[in-house]
Amino acid sequence: MAAFGTQFTTEMVISRFGDGQWSNLEVVPVQPFSMHPATHVLHYASECFEGLKAYRTAAGGIHLFRPDRHVARMLNSAAQLLLPAPDEAALKRSLQMAVSAVADEIPAYPGALYLRPTLLGTEEDIGAAARPTSKALYYVLTSPVGDYFSGGLQPLRVKVDDQAQRSTPNFGAVKTGGNYAAAMRQVVQAKQEFGADQVLFAPGGVVQETGAANFVLIDGNELLTKPLDGSILPGVTRDSILQLARDAGLTICERDFSVEELLERAPGAEAALTGTAAVLTPVGELVYQGSTIKVGDGQMGPWSERLREQLCAIQSGAAEDPHGWRVPL
Ligand code: PMP
Repeated sequence: MAAFGTQFTTEMVISRFGDGQWSNLEVVPVQPFSMHPATHVLHYASECFEGLKAYRTAAGGIHLFRPDRHVARMLNSAAQLLLPAPDEAALKRSLQMAVSAVADEIPAYPGALYLRPTLLGTEEDIGAAARPTSKALYYVLTSPVGDYFSGGLQPLRVKVDDQAQRSTPNFGAVKTGGNYAAAMRQVVQAKQEFGADQVLFAPGGVVQETGAANFVLIDGNELLTKPLDGSILPGVTRDSILQLARDAGLTICERDFSVEELLERAPGAEAALTGTAAVLTPVGELVYQGSTIKVGDGQMGPWSERLREQLCAIQSGAAEDPHGWRVPL
């Protein structure tokens, strides 16, 4: 299967905002947009997006995974960016429409349909640095994705960076392209220089998250992760894993912790990244100031395995859904 995010379905949902209102949601063929060179988003990065999945179960049903959470996060991103957004009901409907339109293109589990709802500022105005856009475009692009782990689940090598920031302090919860632009060079450099798969951002020595996933440390009976204080993305997978960990009897500790504490505890602990694409992926090694520190024995630990399996079973439809996370089509 093609690399994640490089293959698309045939149809998408779109809606446009102008003169103070949104047009009806429409299903249209996936095709290029035409934009004036002065379009707001091209200059002032007035955009935000989401990433979530729809699954086809063994029994043939189709469901979205926690779409309400993604809609809420998108509304928050849009509000922070002063972008007009469709209301909650329209956003939810747009996700259902986007999945229904391409239902026969959804691969069976462990494949899925990845949805990328996107909101752009489209006013033609390059003097608008201090003015919000009065026009916007919303669309839901979808992409059939295969098993992210078809080559086997390899524990990751993660560079810990206590200097770089992936976002300005109060913008971390906003899912906007600028945050990814800020993180890109760090991630590419970490790969080139240290063979690292990801960067764990820890500006000022406080552990935050990686470029595209949240970070958890599991030590004994405790799951430790940074609290949602606006500096990191409130991951839907993070929330799900914390709930499953709580259900399983782990103590959830949401507090700031330092690189020093992480490195001290890592050899006797488990660490993992959580996110829609990666579900839960174990971290086998940390690289800090050029030295490698093994996390546990470098392999996936028992808690990571258990929590991952539980979440996968809910997503695939193989297990009960005690928290009502599956939303059927
Ligand atoms: N942090 C960042 C920076 C991300 O890009 C993502 C992926 N959306 C996550 C965390 C994980 O969020 P979620 O579990 O909602 O996919």
